[in-house]
Amino acid sequence: MSPQPLAGKHAVVTGGGRGIGAAIAVALAGAGADITLMGRSRAPLEMQAQTLRTRIHIETCDVSDPDDVRRAFQGASAVLGDVAILVNNAGQAESRPFGKTDLTLWRTMIEVNLTGTFLCTQAALPGMLAAGWGRIVNIASTAGLRGYPYVSAYCAAKHGVIGLTRALALELARKNITVNAVCPGYTQTGLLEASLATIAQKTGRSAAEARAELVRHNPQGRLVEPEEVAQAVLWLCLPGSAALTGQAIAVAGGEVM
Ligand code: NDP
Repeated sequence: MSPQPLAGKHAVVTGGGRGIGAAIAVALAGAGADITLMGRSRAPLEMQAQTLRTRIHIETCDVSDPDDVRRAFQGASAVLGDVAILVNNAGQAESRPFGKTDLTLWRTMIEVNLTGTFLCTQAALPGMLAAGWGRIVNIASTAGLRGYPYVSAYCAAKHGVIGLTRALALELARKNITVNAVCPGYTQTGLLEASLATIAQKTGRSAAEARAELVRHNPQGRLVEPEEVAQAVLWLCLPGSAALTGQAIAVAGGEVM
């Protein structure tokens, strides 16, 4: 395999400033892709950009805002060309019992995790169709494959992401564009730390007990590392992965099978 199999390809990674998105940007840049990092706050994007040895562009953008998404993708394409690889990674997870899940929380989970994926995909797709090549990878979750208590809105949004992935994969099957979902289990990031703090606060458990509770879900007895999720994303983006489409691949130590 060429050491730079994605050379000349423009990859957009939403939520690329930290956590799983930052690790994905490193992996794709390592394979030679040019990278646009998107997120709401500029500072983490700039810090992450400094670590990447490739052509880099930054766009601040709220993926749930249609005008913002349109502007950001136009800006990115003007600098690095049409988007060939889109990683819809930006996401938020907030837990609450169903009875306390108000419409505001419901809408936020759906808009950021699901509508954001829809809007970014609509913005990137025309360029892929014009080029006759594309890779779309949606970072869903094991919460897109099975239920978990106290995260009904997040679970609904991530199940929606997988439904969108499957439908679009079929729609694009003869266009040389693949659409897949990667479904991490509990992964060591800031999002997870926030979940641990919520569990500790709501249940009175120590931080270590809260972590042990999440680790218990993973048959390997550990949290997933962001780089492990990134390797799955990279694999799906390689030219040789053209036959893989419409899949929802769990990166979760065997939690879902
Ligand atoms: P982090 O909280 O560490 O990072 C989330 C990223 O998304 C940040 O870069 C953030 O940047 C960006 N983001 C959040 N909201 C928006 C928005 N409205 N518009 C644009 N960017 C946004 O989370 P993770 O790295 O852990 O999560 C990445 C993805 O992986 C998410 O989709 C998450 O649901 C999924 N996932 C994570 C798991 C875990 O255990 N960590 C498990 C399963 C799935 P900023 O705040 O600057 O906008």
